[in-house]
Amino acid sequence: MIKKIDHIGIAVNNLEESLSFYEGVLGLEVRGIEEVSEQKVKVGFLDIGGVHLELLEPTSPDGPVGKFIEKRGEGIHHIAILVDDIEKSIDLMKNKEIKLIDEKPRIGAGKSKMAFVHPKSTHGILLELYEK
Ligand code: ZN
Repeated sequence: MIKKIDHIGIAVNNLEESLSFYEGVLGLEVRGIEEVSEQKVKVGFLDIGGVHLELLEPTSPDGPVGKFIEKRGEGIHHIAILVDDIEKSIDLMKNKEIKLIDEKPRIGAGKSKMAFVHPKSTHGILLELYEK
């Protein structure tokens, strides 16, 4: 069911500023910048050897990433694993009584389907199930 790590989500205060490091210093290529209004974030994707970094800038302090930064500052927000059938993965987790944040897939950046698994069930990381 799991194919690979698709991306690592990193919460940043300012996307343009963070690109001066990720693009300017590391030399990574930006694959696109997109606003996901439902999540109240502006997202920048960078390719790093077939895996992506997803830089997340909050567009509002009351969104999930805005709250995250307020509590913990910038840093790793989530790890996303690519699955071939997100509905099946969600059902499997439900059957094993895994705590989910999203019981149904949501539409994320690039029209992908995504659902978050609660850190209580993953030993401390916010895990994103992601289907392209
Ligand atoms: Zn993500």
